[in-house]
Parts: sequence; structure tokens; C-alpha cells
Amino acid sequence: MENVEYCGLISNLLLQRTNGKAPRALVRTYGCQQNVSDSEKIKGMLSHMGYEFTQNNNDADIIIFNTCAVREHAEDRVFGNVGALKALKKKKPHLIIALCGCMMEQSHIADKIKKSFPFVNLVFGTHSLSHFPQLIYKTITEEKRIFERGIDDNTIAEDVPIKRDGNLKAFLPIMYGCDNFCSYCVVPYVRGRERSRNSFNILKEAKSIVDEGYKDITLLGQNVNSYGKNLDEEINFAQLLKEVDNIKGDFWLRFMTSHPKDATKELIDAMASGKHICHHLHLPFQSGSNRILKLMNRHYTREKYLEIVSYAKEKMPDISITSDVIVGFPGETYEDFCSTLSLIREVGFTSLFTFIYSKRAGTLATKMEDPISAKEKSKWFKELLAVQNEVSEEQSRKYEGKTVKVLIEGRANELGKLTARTQGNIIVDLKGDENLIGKFAMVKITKAQNWFLKGELVNTL
Ligand code: SAH
Ligand code: SF4
Repeated sequence: MENVEYCGLISNLLLQRTNGKAPRALVRTYGCQQNVSDSEKIKGMLSHMGYEFTQNNNDADIIIFNTCAVREHAEDRVFGNVGALKALKKKKPHLIIALCGCMMEQSHIADKIKKSFPFVNLVFGTHSLSHFPQLIYKTITEEKRIFERGIDDNTIAEDVPIKRDGNLKAFLPIMYGCDNFCSYCVVPYVRGRERSRNSFNILKEAKSIVDEGYKDITLLGQNVNSYGKNLDEEINFAQLLKEVDNIKGDFWLRFMTSHPKDATKELIDAMASGKHICHHLHLPFQSGSNRILKLMNRHYTREKYLEIVSYAKEKMPDISITSDVIVGFPGETYEDFCSTLSLIREVGFTSLFTFIYSKRAGTLATKMEDPISAKEKSKWFKELLAVQNEVSEEQSRKYEGKTVKVLIEGRANELGKLTARTQGNIIVDLKGDENLIGKFAMVKITKAQNWFLKGELVNTL
């Protein structure tokens, strides 16, 4: 049976149970943009089953947590929040509790849910997303717990309905999975082998996103720079980026994540000559020490990283570079850590996603000696944050007095104020009327804070 048929059956069943009142769903997303995008598909399918949406646990007939396994802290939060649903389930026995996403692809996690959280009805992994309607149908009709994970047939399900969050920003996955096996990272184990969508389907989706009025499109993949490697068609990421850029319309185009080992001059040239492509490069470096980069299995050196950054700066002097960094990788010394600090200063990142190393079951790094204490690592981490704050402030100050293009995204907390974003993904606060939301505008930057800018509207575009 097809997904649409399952959705129809579920819709009828639920309406009988709720006496014609629309059932409600709550979907909570943890982790990265890929998870946000997967949740948009889950919500699209739930919509087809007749569900409306709520943010309130007490109103929900189904609660779904789409989980993240990248760090232990993210997993602990999920366990805490699932535990808190026990009392609600007791009060509302018809409530369906479902857990999905990266955490659920790990057998030790699925076993823990089976044993310690008997009120969870459905568990499914990232590979089962496309037959979600069938799983819900089984959960409702068979009245038993369903656990489904680990089925990696490497196919990509196209034409899954999507209910996007918001109406300005759209995530567009161009590939799934990862083959890089960085020694600290669980992603290749929970998301499977790298596979690219064919360019025809990506371009079709991109056109419809533009036609629907979205203004800020992000192409998504764990390593977008290796796009196309498993496809029959001859295409690489720079070529795909140019094709999406050629779509007519009024929009910004971004992409993430770029792996430095596969970042090419061709890609930078495509960015520099694009019409819609933001001068924003998210290029995770993880460590500034060649010794640690090697242990991390990253396949580039500090010098290679700086070379691509310097080429990008040469071609796009206004480029904003952001990155991910890990502090306290097994065997990292204070000297290695200082190399990370010096790289941060040398590049001048606009902002950083900063992580303390977290041990992930099944990864290579778990076998490495890790003599530095958690206390010491957190001291280094604070030192790194202080350096990045200084660097961010320096970067922001460059905008003072300049007039830049922004996308006005919404209301700010302060009355009469709006919040906007630059190409470089920096937040700008400005005064203005709500009817400007969703418009591109020129804004004069009057003041720089360390992670946001204050500006005045010059004109809309
Ligand atoms: N595919 C992306 C990143 C995906 S995970 C890339 O390669 O850039 C997002 C970030 O989480 C990583 O860049 C890394 O900085 C961090 N991360 C991944 N595994 C981690 C771990 N075990 N401990 C701490 N941080 C981790
Ligand atoms: Fe993880 Fe490395 Fe793949 Fe990124 S490239 S998802 S860090 S294994």
C-alpha cells in the first residue's frame, strides 16, 4: 500500500475516535538542520493524516521527538523529556508517543527505551522516515509497541509531502548520509552511506520553493562538497549550485556543510560570480593542530584550510566565515589547543559553533587515550569562548557605518523593533513596521555588538 492510502486510512480512523474533531500533533526537533528538514517531512505526512499542530503537550494526541545523537548532552535531554511524559500518558492512554531520528538508530538506545520507557509506543530510525504513515497505521491498529530501525536500502524517497516551518527560510536536502567517518562522529553510523539526490529533483523542489515565496534557501548535506559522487549524471556541487542560482526570482541561496577536504576553488568561484549566493561560508575546521586533525581523520591540514579561506577572502572580500570546533579531543594537549586559538584569530570567524568532545559509542576515538580531565577541558572551552567573543566583536565592528542588504525576518522582542539578517548570517536589529517582514532591504549599520548589529532602514528593495 502507498503512503497516501495509509494517510487516508489513518485520517478516517482518527476522525472516528475523536468524534470528527481534528487530532493534534506535537513534533519536537533536536539537533541539526537535517533533523529540522526531516521533521518538516514528518509534519507534511501528519497533515495528510488529518493532524493539526500544537506546541502544548496536554493538547496533543501524538507527541514525536526527532532526536540527535551527536553529543551525550543532546541524548540526556531527550531521555529527560521522554521521562516527563509518563504522567501525561497515564492521564491520556490514547496518546501516541513516538521517538525517531539519529538516537534511535543505535541499538543500545533502542534497548534502553524498550526496557525503561514502556509507555513509548513507536520507535523508528532515520532510514524508516519514508514509511512513517505505515508505522503510525500499525501503531494504531495493532495496539502493540513498534520498533523499526537499521533498514538501510540506500534509496531516497522523493515526493514525501513537506510542511515547512515558517514562510521565509527553506531547507533543501541535496544528499543524505556521510562516508567520512571522522573519528569522533556518530553520523555515518546513524545516517548511513552518502547518497545524492539527482539534480532534476533538487531543481524541481528549488523552483517550487522560490515560487512559493521563500526568500532564503539552504542546500543541506553532511558534506555538500562531495555532492554527485554516487550519481550516474556528471555533476559536482559547484555545478549544482550554479544551476540553482540560475533560477529566476528574488531569493538568497546558502549551503551547509562544506568539508574543507573537498572545498574547491571552483566552488569559491561559483559563489563569487553567483547572483543569489550569499557570501557566507560555513567551513568546520574542528582543530587548528595538524596532529589532532590527523587523529580526527579529517584529511586536510591547517595550511590547506587557510589556503581555501584566503582564496575565498580574495574573491569575496566581504565574505563571512563561520565554523565548528571541538575542544578536548582525546590526546589534545594545551599546545594543540593553542593552535586552535591561533587559527581562530587568523581566520577571523564571524561566529563559531563550539563543542566539548563527547565520547560516542562505536566511533574510533573511543579507543584513544583521553587523559585530560573534564574540568581542564571546560577551562580551555571558556578560554576559547573569550577569544571568539573578541574576534566576533572585531568582525562586527567592520560593519559600523556601512549600508548592507538584509532580509527582514520578524518582530524583535522590543516593541516597534524588527529583526533582520545579513548575507553573512549576522542578526540586525532595526526600527520598522511589521509590513516590512519578508522583504529585502538596505540598512545602515549604526552599532556593532559582539553577536548582533543595530541598524537603520535606508530603503526596501
Ligand atoms: N557534517 C558536518 C557536521 C555534522 S555534526 C561536518 O562535517 O562539518 C556537527 C558538529 O558537531 C561537527 O562539526 C562537530 O564540530 C560536532 N561534533 C560531532 N561529533 C562530536 C562529538 N563526538 N563531540 C563533540 N562534538 C562533536
Ligand atoms: Fe561527522 Fe565528519 Fe561526516 Fe561531518 S563529515 S557528519 S563530522 S563524519
